[in-house]
Amino acid sequence: MCWPAGQRWRYRLRYLDCFQSIAEWLHRHTIARALPVKPVRTSTIFCLANGPQAIKPLTFASQEKLWRCQRDANGEIRFTSNEPEIEPLAVIGARACDIAALYIQDQHFLHAQNKDPFYLARRERLFLVAVNCTHAAATCFCASTGDGPQVKYGYDIALSELDEGFIVEGRSDRGLELMQRLPTAEAGKEQLEIAAELIQGAAQQQRQLPSRNLKDLLFDNLEHERWQAIGERCLSCGNCTAVCPTCFCYREDENAALDGNSSEHYRQWDSCFTQGHSYIHGLTIRADTPKRYRQWLTHKLGSWHDQYGRSGCVGCGRCITWCPVGIDITEEIAAISGESG
Ligand code: SF4
Ligand code: SF4
Repeated sequence: MCWPAGQRWRYRLRYLDCFQSIAEWLHRHTIARALPVKPVRTSTIFCLANGPQAIKPLTFASQEKLWRCQRDANGEIRFTSNEPEIEPLAVIGARACDIAALYIQDQHFLHAQNKDPFYLARRERLFLVAVNCTHAAATCFCASTGDGPQVKYGYDIALSELDEGFIVEGRSDRGLELMQRLPTAEAGKEQLEIAAELIQGAAQQQRQLPSRNLKDLLFDNLEHERWQAIGERCLSCGNCTAVCPTCFCYREDENAALDGNSSEHYRQWDSCFTQGHSYIHGLTIRADTPKRYRQWLTHKLGSWHDQYGRSGCVGCGRCITWCPVGIDITEEIAAISGESG
């Protein structure tokens, strides 16, 4: 877990004419168990932009039991951790925005002194086959956040899809090992140029954020009238936080057995849009929706810089896609900054 700076990464570019070779290798090495990889031979396997959900649920489970406690015959309470036994898992087609988000989640869950063992177990067993985007969705704005469309770190191998095959880039030791087993040829100059052009095309995006650091803008506008206008549309459903690849809030619940002798402790995803999220000592601090939306945006794009050294948005666009009332984070920032028409 030492990307992106570790010098132990080696780097090599090769050309592969058949994606199926990767799938076969992964299956042989049980990395991609249970993945429905079919023998497809087409030039448009990865022509779509990122999928409906990010990598997040594969490392940060939406609900899981953390521990169990049991009172024994002497009345002593014993705790048993429920750390999972995780199977190796390959993600094929991981996008630059989602890998950037994974790196942000690493910062949150893998602090130097306080590593989350549940997250760590899943994270270490992840094998990432990244893909450089060649087409942006209407909701994508990763170019303006600096996180895409080209994947630059954090992967085992990366693919650039051309009409007749793939440019393959190995980064990690495991990725380079996989590459050695693939029937590749040297990538040609023309192929590399086409791959670069395709990435450049995907960087032409309809949406954007005006800056990678919007902290001052947001904190200078905490009383902006736009917060009330958004709050009147927002349903506080939490869809945006559930699909956001960087959101990490969760709550913990205790499920006690009726006989009082045992209990199970769970955590599950939470959202700053729920009423209970800001409930402290008899008071709900953010009782209405405008305050909750403001909390989400000022944290995600503002105070996140103090916590993690960067914005919490990687421009994946999912919060726009999944908002049932069409709230668009880029539009709201434009309105607050006075740039909207
Ligand atoms: S705030 Fe929206 S666009 Fe940004 S990373 Fe989260 S879901 Fe993606
Ligand atoms: S998805 Fe839309 S409606 Fe739901 S909480 Fe987020 S901004 Fe509000």
